[in-house]
Parts: sequence; C-alpha cells; structure tokens
Amino acid sequence: MSSQSVSVCNKCHTEPSVYHRSYSGEYLCKKCFLYSIEKKTSKTISKFSMLNYNDRLAVGVSGGKDSLALLYIIKKLFDKLGRSNLIAITIDEGIEGYRNESLQITRDFCANLKVENKILSYKDLFGIDMDEAMKIRPNEKMSSCSICGTFRRRAIDMAAESVGANVVATAHNLDDHLQTFMINFLAGDIERIGWNYPEPIQYGNSNLKKVKPFIEIYEQEIVFYALQRKIPFQSEECPYMNESIRTELRLFLNKLEKTHPGIKYNAYNSMTNISKGLKSSPKTRNANKCSICERDSSGNVCSVCKISEILK
Ligand code: SF4
Ligand code: ZN
Repeated sequence: MSSQSVSVCNKCHTEPSVYHRSYSGEYLCKKCFLYSIEKKTSKTISKFSMLNYNDRLAVGVSGGKDSLALLYIIKKLFDKLGRSNLIAITIDEGIEGYRNESLQITRDFCANLKVENKILSYKDLFGIDMDEAMKIRPNEKMSSCSICGTFRRRAIDMAAESVGANVVATAHNLDDHLQTFMINFLAGDIERIGWNYPEPIQYGNSNLKKVKPFIEIYEQEIVFYALQRKIPFQSEECPYMNESIRTELRLFLNKLEKTHPGIKYNAYNSMTNISKGLKSSPKTRNANKCSICERDSSGNVCSVCKISEILK
C-alpha cells in the first residue's frame, strides 16, 4: 500500500487522495481515510457486540500508536454518544529506557483528551519487573515476550478491576490477530485458536469482557491514521522484542501482502471462521481455580503463578 498518489479521492470525488488502499483499489483523501478507520472501528464494535450502554470501559494504553489511536477514536465515539464511563489503563513492565518515554506520552495524551489514566507496574503487582526477570530467567526458552505477555494479561485484568471497569479494550489489530493465530497453530495449540474468536466472553472472578475494536484493521492503516491525526507515539522499540517468533511472522505476512494485496484480509476471514468453529465456553476454558492465587485457570496452577515460581 502506498500513501502517495495524485489521484482524486474515490469517496468524495473532490479532494486529492493521500492514501491508496491497495486491497480494495480505493484512493482516499485525508478526511475520507480518517472517517473510514473510525467507521470500521465502530462497525466492529457493533458486529461483535463488544459494548453495551451501561458498560464501564477501560482502554489499555501503552503509549504506542495503536493504543493511543484507539483511545482517541473511542473517546470521540463516547463524546458523540454522550457517554463518559471511560478510563485509560497503562501497564509499566519495568523496561529501562523503553517504558519511561511512553509513560510520559500516555500521561500527556490522556490529560489532553481529559481521560483519567491509571498506571500499574509489574513490580507492584508481581514483585518483579521485566529487566529483573530477564536477568534471572533460567534459560532463553522462557522468552521475554511469553513472560511479559502472561504478566500483562493478568496486570490488565487487575488494573481494570481496580477501576471498576467491566470491559477492557485493547488495540490488537488484524496483523496481531493473524500472528497470534499462526503462533498457536504452529505450536499445535488448538484450544487457544478457539480463544481467538473476536466476540467477547465474560471471564474471571469479576466477569470482565475483553474486546479488540481494531481487529479488522491493518496495522499500517492504524499507523497512517495516527500520523494523519498527529497522534504522538514512542520512537523506542522494546529491547527484548526480537526474541519473538511474532516478528518473523509479521515480516513474512507483510511480504506476502506486498505481492498479493488483500491476502491478510482473506486469511483473517478464514482464521476467524476456524476460531468460531473451535471456540469453547468460558467454563471449559478455565475450569479450575489456581491453587496459589485462586484466579480462574485451565490447570491447578495458573501460568502467572508458574512463571512467578520459576523466577523466585
Ligand atoms: Fe513485552 Fe515482548 Fe512487548 Fe517487549 S516486545 S514489551 S518483552 S511483550
Ligand atoms: Zn495463580
């Protein structure tokens, strides 16, 4: 997809286009492009029944472009509907040189939007931060992102509970969704493929719902949205990022998309149908209680407590 073109917008037929959506062939001007992303987000929310009128919504905001764009669009939507039950939650993983910049960006952005920002850290919640975990992990098979991802899911639940939210929105996009599907597929984890279906379920001790309003939007369109809206975002990359197979899948899928525009969207549709067929009820998903923390768990000890024990 290219963001450069001299064509006229195919929607309004007046303004010059700034974006070529190669999977649909459309040329869009700035206004029509921004509108298309906001419209798609609100359509996705309705399509998968992500929000009810009385919900208190927590948006997970990391300081990256996706999550700031999500908060911006949701705030706009809430303002339009006259709703105010919205809060931003931020998790500080404790990664020196990476997190500090994004925490400041997030604080300023939320203050500008007039949305409260609650910050919780791994150190406070689990007694250890990511830099410490990376030093004492037993070996590299325990990858940075698997430790971090497991802690983050729990931290987000705890942050949402602490602010009385019953729905948590995260900025996972179509690319993230495809990568997660493929990671589970390659690991032979059929059960988790079923968990990927975007319609939210209530789970856990406080009946939280997790929703992903960007699930049908390409990552690069969200980046372009954020650039066009002049949304600030952090420039630093996580120093532990490249340990993940996710990075390789991301490059692979983007390469395919370049030569076969629309292939990611086709894959998304196929994968969503497969996930739908495999999805299990929340009861079978987490049928046990963890014997250490007493939260819902698929086994006797949940993954957070397992990792915490190993890192002690
Ligand atoms: Fe955590 Fe991995 Fe993301 Fe870094 S790249 S913040 S280690 S999940
Ligand atoms: Zn536990």
